[in-house]
Amino acid sequence: MNALLDAVLFAADKHSDQRRKNAAGTPYINHPIEVADHLARVGNVADQSILIAALLHDTVEDTEATESEIRERFGCDIAALVMECTDDKSLPKQERKRLQVVNAPHKSDGAKQIKLADKTCNLRTMLDDPPQDWPISRQLEYVRWANEVIAGLKGINEALDNAADAVVRDCLEHLKRQAS
Ligand code: ZN
Repeated sequence: MNALLDAVLFAADKHSDQRRKNAAGTPYINHPIEVADHLARVGNVADQSILIAALLHDTVEDTEATESEIRERFGCDIAALVMECTDDKSLPKQERKRLQVVNAPHKSDGAKQIKLADKTCNLRTMLDDPPQDWPISRQLEYVRWANEVIAGLKGINEALDNAADAVVRDCLEHLKRQAS
């Protein structure tokens, strides 16, 4: 079986009862597909392990999928990449957010690119279709935090770096306009 398609199937199955936070409640699976597509199309990433790990990047953090399940089905390298993109959910949310900033510069090149694409796609989604219960102040706080994480992820893939900078700029301009 084609491993990329197998990853789409696995992620679609694991995320099947989840929706995004936008008003339309988009099916969650759209997000990992967008992240993999951003890596391939904007970042010109051709490494199958990175694209597969991108499709799986939220499965361990947000579903009942486990590291060993991913290792058995997709191999050690992909499982390691997914775990690099997985927050420790036993920690309080603020601590997890702090650790993302602290740990970003120490990730592998593959994980940095996946996380950068993840932040870029999340910011783009927030800009186009913000969560209904997020006031401007909360959106601004999110952009500032995401930009701190982004700073630690840049330097591997210039096209991905530029796309991340552009969406941060767009978000800040949009939010400032809304606040004034
Ligand atoms: Zn994600």
